Amino acid sequence: VWSKCLEIIHNDINEQSFKTWFEPIIPLNVSNQTLSIQVPSQFFYEWLEENYIHVLRKAIDFTLGKNGMLEYSIIVDKGDKKNPPITYNIPNQKSSVPVTAQQRKPEPTLYESPFQLKDLDSLDLDSYLNAHYTFDNFVEGDCNRLGRSAGLAVAQRPGVTSFNPLMIYGSVGLGKTHLIQAIGNYIKNTQTNKFVLYVTSEKFCNQFINAIKNNTLQAFTNFYMQVDCLIIDDVQFLAGKEKTQESFFHIFNHLHQSGKQIIMSSDRAPRELAGMQDRLLSRFKWGLTADVQQPDFETRIAILQKKLQADGIYIEDKVIEYLAHSIDTNVREMEGVIVSLMAHASLNRKEIDMDLARTTLKNIVVDNEKEVTVDSILDAVTSHFDVNMSDLKSKSRKKETVFPRQIAMYLMKEFTNLPLKSIGYHFGGRDHSTVIHAVQTISIMLETDKEVEKTMQKLYKYFNRVRVKN
Ligand code: ADP
Ligand code: MG
Repeated sequence: VWSKCLEIIHNDINEQSFKTWFEPIIPLNVSNQTLSIQVPSQFFYEWLEENYIHVLRKAIDFTLGKNGMLEYSIIVDKGDKKNPPITYNIPNQKSSVPVTAQQRKPEPTLYESPFQLKDLDSLDLDSYLNAHYTFDNFVEGDCNRLGRSAGLAVAQRPGVTSFNPLMIYGSVGLGKTHLIQAIGNYIKNTQTNKFVLYVTSEKFCNQFINAIKNNTLQAFTNFYMQVDCLIIDDVQFLAGKEKTQESFFHIFNHLHQSGKQIIMSSDRAPRELAGMQDRLLSRFKWGLTADVQQPDFETRIAILQKKLQADGIYIEDKVIEYLAHSIDTNVREMEGVIVSLMAHASLNRKEIDMDLARTTLKNIVVDNEKEVTVDSILDAVTSHFDVNMSDLKSKSRKKETVFPRQIAMYLMKEFTNLPLKSIGYHFGGRDHSTVIHAVQTISIMLETDKEVEKTMQKLYKYFNRVRVKN
């Protein structure tokens, strides 16, 4: 039955989704028109129900008939050689709301009592959410898809999904703070009775230290224990701070047990968080950990467009593409460039055009620009193409070396002031017409072959340069 189901499903969805969401499923048995399948986690189950219930239903209809049922068996603990996995079963329902959603009713909020609000003030705490960070202006891309969808699920049903805690990690400037605050804002706006609190780990630490100093530890703990949705940013800051971690551990446990939502961010994966207590790290794994990565070219374009649109600025597509090509480190840097572009434009009363973009960018990347020398070109080319230096410099006509050699000549022509003859000299004493031929050949390839253009862009990066297509 299951292989028939898979056949049907496979037809309906793309290969990648099929591999991710259906290959890991283990069919258990069929009885009384009910098919039992085992899935790796609660998250997996929820994802299937949210996204693939229709294809599943279709497959079940087809194989078991309209009354066919699906039962999920979810692995809670993978077990080991001695212990079998622990699982629990969820019969398929017509609705897509998971059973757990009804089991864990959130507790009534306590923070409405004026006394506690006063405490809140004395601790210098407020929700600290920046209303500017929303899902609407958070551009989705492959780089953040999982985090964003999990975040949205949490925002819609805080404390109820299995993404608790939700941990977003990734390096600086990739949107962690934006995303976790967007979740907070969403909850705050849709469930006004919920107490949402955003705090950086640094601030949490300072508050903790002050609480010890002032003998108000109890008030501190009590305060945090009333939060419905605790968002704690940059938890890597807690590393090595034993006492603060202990306090956080208790707060975490209390909130988690009461079905309150916890959202965290970190600049590295939990397993790389040295200086963090194991018991805390193991708690982090209870929920979902999702990373954010560097946005790809298309996502960078979309982000730039969104920012410009929000600021009411118009820039030609060509210039946007140029910027997206040039800045691929992180989103914060892209924003920085836009800001200085706008500043330059208004100072010089100029349109933001290609020229301005180039000069502005040049000023920004100028720090990293080293002089490009013959040796650095030879090094870059040999390592990029994995060819021997001696082969590259020889007169060998082997295809594997001819192309890299022509590229090297082209780069020397571009970056150094050497006369063509001197360039030829570096390659077994070839004459200048060989160099001209090489440069022409590569120029044509760059125009006609996208791969060659890509290769060239990568090589430019060896020299911290940005390649601008004309
Ligand atoms: P992090 O906390 O990971 O260091 P931030 O959340 O502070 O990064 O993001 C840096 C800047 O980039 C913020 O202004 C944020 O709004 C913006 N940003 C990051 N990712 C996105 C995205 N996917 N869409 C729109 N803006 C983004
Ligand atoms: Mg941040």
